[in-house]
Amino acid sequence: MSVLVIAEHDNGQLAPSTLATVTAALAIDGTVDVLVAGHGCSAVAERAATVAGVARVRVADAPHLDHWLAENLAPVIVGLSDDYQHLLAPASTFGKNLMPRVAALLDVQQISDITVVESADTFVRPIYAGNALATVQSTDSIKVITVRPTAFDKAAAEGGSGAVEPVDPGADSGRSRFVDQQLTESSRPELTAAGVVVSGGRGLGSGENFRLLEELADTLGAAIGASRAAVDAGYVPNDYQVGQTGKVVAPDLYIAIGISGAIQHLAGMEGSKVIVAINKDEDAPIFEVADYGLVGDLFELVPELTQKLKG
Ligand code: FAD
Repeated sequence: MSVLVIAEHDNGQLAPSTLATVTAALAIDGTVDVLVAGHGCSAVAERAATVAGVARVRVADAPHLDHWLAENLAPVIVGLSDDYQHLLAPASTFGKNLMPRVAALLDVQQISDITVVESADTFVRPIYAGNALATVQSTDSIKVITVRPTAFDKAAAEGGSGAVEPVDPGADSGRSRFVDQQLTESSRPELTAAGVVVSGGRGLGSGENFRLLEELADTLGAAIGASRAAVDAGYVPNDYQVGQTGKVVAPDLYIAIGISGAIQHLAGMEGSKVIVAINKDEDAPIFEVADYGLVGDLFELVPELTQKLKG
C-alpha cells in the first residue's frame, strides 16, 4: 500500500509545499505516488516525476479541474483511494479547502496540520494555537491528512524517475464554479517560501506607514507579513496575515515590527530560525520569543536599520 500526495501547483510550477508533503509521505511509507490534477498541467506532472522518492505521478487533466474546486477534485481523489491507506495534502489554503471534503466522502476523521510522523498511524499536531502538541493515533482504514509544510524539509526536486500515467478526471459536479481571483502582484518572494520575512502590526498605525517595511524588505530580499490587527485595520491585504488563522511561516529570519506577540500571532511564526522584534514596549510578549530585540520607536529604528543594512 502506498501513500498518495495531492500536489499543490498552479498548472505551471509545483508549489514548495508539495515537496514538504512528499517528505512527510516518505516518512510514512517508502512508496509515494503524487496526484497532479488541474488543466494543462502536464509540465507539472513531468516535474513531479523527478522529485526524489516519487514512484508514480497520476495526472487528472480536464477543464473542470482548472481551479481545483473541491467539489470537482475530491471525487477524483476518492476514486483513486482504493489504492492507498494515506492521502496527504499540504495544510495550505489548497489542502484545507480540499481534504475535509475528501474525508467526509470517505467517512473518516481528517488528521489536520501534522508536524511529525511517528508511525504509519500516529502523528503529532499542534493544538491550542501551538501551545500544546497532541499525539494522535488513527484507526481509520484510510487516513486523510494535511501536513504543515514548514515542519518538513522539502524533498529534492531532482533525482526521481517516477512513471507518469493519466487517470479519470471525472466530470464537472456543477456544484460550484470559478468566478474570479484577485492576486496581489508582488516582485517579492512568496510569504510562506521566503527566507526572510518582515512583518508589521498595529504599531505601524496605517497602510501608508507599511512603506517603511517595504524599504527594509527590499533591502533584505524579504517577503512582507502582518498581524491580524494590521490586516483587520485595512493596512494590508489579508493574504499577508501570519498566525493561527493566517499563514504559518518558518523563515531563517523573521522581523516583527510593532507586533505585540499575541499567542495567535506566535502560532504562525515561532518556528522561525531567528526572530527579531522591534517594539516600544519592553514588556511586549514578542520579546519572550525574540532572539534579538530593539526597544524603541519603530519610526526611528526601522529607517536607521534600513540605512545601516544598505550601508
Ligand atoms: P497589538 O496587540 O495592538 O500590538 C501593537 C504593538 O505595537 C504593541 O506591542 C505596541 O507596543 C507596539 N507599538 C505601537 N506603536 C509603536 C511604535 N511607534 N514603535 C514600536 N512599537 C510600537 N493575530 C495574528 O496576528 N494572526 C492570527 O492569525 C490571529 N488569529 C486569531 C484568531 C483568533 C481566534 C483570535 C481570537 C485572535 C487572533 N489574532 C491573530 C489576534 C491576536 O489575538 C492579536 O489581537 C493580534 O495579533 C494583535 O496584533 P498586533 O500585535 O499588531 O497589535
